[in-house]
Amino acid sequence: MATQKKDYYEVLGVARDAGADEIKKAYRRLAMKNHPDRNPGDSAAESRFKEASEAYEVLSDPAKRRNYDQYGHEGVKSSFGPGGFDFRRDFTHASDLQDILGSIFGESGGGIFEEFFGGGHRRSRTDGGARRGADMRFDLEIDFEEAVFGSEREITLPMNKDCETCSGSGVKPGSRPETCKHCGGSGAVVSSSGFFQVRQACPVCSGQGSIIRNPCRDCKGNGRVRTRTRLTLRIPEGVNTGSRLRLAGKGEPGSRGGPNGDLFVITHVRPHPVFKRQDEDLLCEQPVPLDVATLGGEIQVPTVKGYAKLKVPAGTESGKVFRIRGKGIRDPYQKIVGDMHVRVHVEIPSKLSSKQKKILRELRESLTMDNYPRAQTFEKQSEKFYDRKAKMGH
Ligand SMILES: [Zn+2]
Ligand SMILES: [Zn+2]
Repeated sequence: MATQKKDYYEVLGVARDAGADEIKKAYRRLAMKNHPDRNPGDSAAESRFKEASEAYEVLSDPAKRRNYDQYGHEGVKSSFGPGGFDFRRDFTHASDLQDILGSIFGESGGGIFEEFFGGGHRRSRTDGGARRGADMRFDLEIDFEEAVFGSEREITLPMNKDCETCSGSGVKPGSRPETCKHCGGSGAVVSSSGFFQVRQACPVCSGQGSIIRNPCRDCKGNGRVRTRTRLTLRIPEGVNTGSRLRLAGKGEPGSRGGPNGDLFVITHVRPHPVFKRQDEDLLCEQPVPLDVATLGGEIQVPTVKGYAKLKVPAGTESGKVFRIRGKGIRDPYQKIVGDMHVRVHVEIPSKLSSKQKKILRELRESLTMDNYPRAQTFEKQSEKFYDRKAKMGH
């Protein structure tokens, strides 16, 4: 614990402003390279693997990443507990990882990957008994308004559940499975290298511990069948893209009396034409009439809490940002309320009548360079350039 912790961005080799995709890609690359199953006995690779996983755990979660950016390791320490990184508790449990690594290590609810992290906590199917259902991830696209005010959504999820005919055993009713001789029924073969043990699924019975001679017809010996579950999701007020909702016990049904897995819903908010969101703050790009920007005045600004009035001082330039405190979004986790930012853009009037054009020409007559200090400065600086150019003989 005394050793200095490395910066998470450095660990993944990404810039501090790296996007979610980039972070995911970097993590995936490191995880593939240093995975213990690929580097048996290499404790340096193992610690690199754990380091990368820890960094990814924080940087892939917008709230944790924000804390980390602000407070460093201190800001995210609590979630790792006194013993360091607790994978089983802290990671979006396997689902996220399997998502990422599934293609490398094969699709499975209890493959090598999970077994590595699950250690002895998780019983394999061969115990003949209960097995927890897999955690599931569901990506939900919602509108900006739903994210701001919260909403309810009905979703349908495909899941696997125990086959009713064989109660999940995969064996034709009336017959029995034979114990696998290769692994003695344990379903796993263990090889150890150094202090590190690698459990692998038995190649003969594919980790089942037994061989089924008479498979159940309804599930073809799988023990599991596809089903669809419908449920109502309550989306809390203030969620953002990347927000993670955990619905305990709403994941894949457990097998043979085991508990259900959890369901993780990741929200993705569709962009809105008026409001752009950054964390709890909102930004809108608002056109302001030329006369208001020049003479000063008051404009109406949209906020999620209704229209607000904003004083625009005389001589306001395009690009100026005004802040309205407390009119942003309420963060569902930290209960912070953000601000509303309004960036004004001076709108040049169009479709002028001949009378309006006449007035504008009169105005032009009366204006001098003194009315345009910025243009004046610009001109002076350009002239200087040509002066020097001439002096240099060009
Ligand atoms: Zn069956
Ligand atoms: Zn076996």
